[in-house]
Amino acid sequence: MPEETSVGPVEVPESDDSAASETPAAKTASIHEISCSNCGAPLTYMQGEAVITCEYCGTTTMLADTSNIVTVESHYLLPPRVGRDEAIGIASAWLEKGFYKSKDLPRRVQWAESSARVLPYWVVRCSGRTMWRGMQKKTRTKGTGDKKTQETYWEPVQGSFSEDYTWPVYAREDDSEFWGIRNIEPGRKCVFPDWGKFIFRIGGSKNAPNSNLLEGKADFSIDELKKYNLHTHIVNGQIVQERAERSARDRIIERHADKANSKATRITDCDTTVDVQGVDLIYVPIWELEYVFQGKTYHVLVDASRQKVLSAEVPVGKWAKATIFDVIMFLIAAVFALVGFAAESGPAFARILTFVFAGGGVAYTVWTAAMKE
Ligand SMILES: [Zn+2]
Repeated sequence: MPEETSVGPVEVPESDDSAASETPAAKTASIHEISCSNCGAPLTYMQGEAVITCEYCGTTTMLADTSNIVTVESHYLLPPRVGRDEAIGIASAWLEKGFYKSKDLPRRVQWAESSARVLPYWVVRCSGRTMWRGMQKKTRTKGTGDKKTQETYWEPVQGSFSEDYTWPVYAREDDSEFWGIRNIEPGRKCVFPDWGKFIFRIGGSKNAPNSNLLEGKADFSIDELKKYNLHTHIVNGQIVQERAERSARDRIIERHADKANSKATRITDCDTTVDVQGVDLIYVPIWELEYVFQGKTYHVLVDASRQKVLSAEVPVGKWAKATIFDVIMFLIAAVFALVGFAAESGPAFARILTFVFAGGGVAYTVWTAAMKE
């Protein structure tokens, strides 16, 4: 493949005064360079990146603005513990677990692309406390005997709740730049079942837990990354600390407003205060894996430090589908059986439909057994 050169509509070249103090490489559109404040090594970064980690000594520099360059002191790493092959092992073990997956799935997939990334996260340690007021719609029975009536009325309700967070803020602008990154945030959908053409899509997905990204953290060490050759895969951040903190606040307020809304029929007042105890920068080593099954490509994200699957796409196994289908068919059959057979003179159509639906379930099971997955 011919190497791409910067042709076409590129960014406006840098002005002379800034280029003069830097090396010629910095002149290339949108690539910049500074020296590491610790070891002096050249750090190159792309336009827009503001959290830059030296791949030689591991020092992280933050460009808060042009005149404000600081070293990030609270700077951690989840030490990587697996390389590519072990990451595939972890993903394979995950692929055979659970009701929704085919037991022999790991043996039938082909592992394709893989990429290692050491991703920057700000972790905002904080607690959110919400006080809410609202109105609850209730019903009560009035009168006695024949004059009994139901009446609805509103009752004022209030309450409060709080939750502690180690809220992760991905330190880059675009969380769709790499697959699955947005699914790591607490509460987001992180497991995506692929049902194919099957229509009764019940369950199988999962939401990301509110887990502590700092658990298992160590001081940032470039040597730890070198053990798995990951030091060249460090991804620079674009979002500075202050913005990360603001973003965490906003998301927690949103989350608490949603939770408050479920507490009463109508919420009239909802006030959330977020207390921030601290903000840390942590690098998370991740393996993005791709596998192919029946001509389709699926993704898995493996946490290379805690050795677990963070997010994944997975085809639903044929027996899971058959089980769901059968339960639905037999439930419908049971309803018709109640209507058709409970009384001596049950309607004939109900008796017939009992057999139709029960038969449907049996037929689907037979078909499933015969079909190749
Ligand atoms: Zn350095």
